[in-house]
Amino acid sequence: TRQREALLEAIENIADRIDEEREYLTELDSAIGDADHGANLNRGFKAVMEKLEAMDDDADVQEIAKTVGMTLVSEVGGAAGPLYGGSAMTASTELEDGITTESSVAFAEAFLEKLQDRGDARVGDKTMVDAITPAVHTYKKSIEQDDLPPLEALAKAVDAAERGVEFTVPIRASKGRASFLGWRSTGHQDPGATSTLFMLEEILAVAE
Ligand code: ADP
Ligand code: MG
Ligand code: MG
Repeated sequence: TRQREALLEAIENIADRIDEEREYLTELDSAIGDADHGANLNRGFKAVMEKLEAMDDDADVQEIAKTVGMTLVSEVGGAAGPLYGGSAMTASTELEDGITTESSVAFAEAFLEKLQDRGDARVGDKTMVDAITPAVHTYKKSIEQDDLPPLEALAKAVDAAERGVEFTVPIRASKGRASFLGWRSTGHQDPGATSTLFMLEEILAVAE
């Protein structure tokens, strides 16, 4: 189906983007972490692409999203893999009846809820949550309150994520490895928030 093709294309574009940005993400992580964020995610998405290539042709979007999540959880050492992967696994159940405007909002909300549950980080802790939270809230509001078409809502969500990434620069980390640095973590952009933005940009590019 077209939905399935679009989802697979988005995942492939994300995998390519992570590969392209691997060194940049690792550089960001070397300033406030352990210099492996790019390598971690790249290993995860390489494994995802292998899994998807070996997958049944009749796998539906829910199964595809779940497989991506499971693979990230099992292949990515480090904080980000289980957070991204576990959230994708849980949120995949919202795609049971395919991808609709409604189910995309439900997926985004379930993803954020699981992420906050698992990582216990809130906005302002200098993590990926600083990019994902405004993106999800903006997406939901744009659709449910402002009646925007999903593509425009997604574009606004990407803008919100971008501002979220910028917001991580001046603040002090309170979660994850970067928090060990205390005030010395200020002045650096969070690697996880940055990889979130790259993924959202690739999803938007396919939707367009
Ligand atoms: P590790 O820190 O284990 O080496 P990565 O380098 O792959 O893992 O990922 C680091 C990123 O994970 C951080 O930049 C941050 O965005 C995110 N992160 C770390 N801890 C948490 C948490 N508790 N909640 C949300 N995100 C987190
Ligand atoms: Mg790291
Ligand atoms: Mg690490």
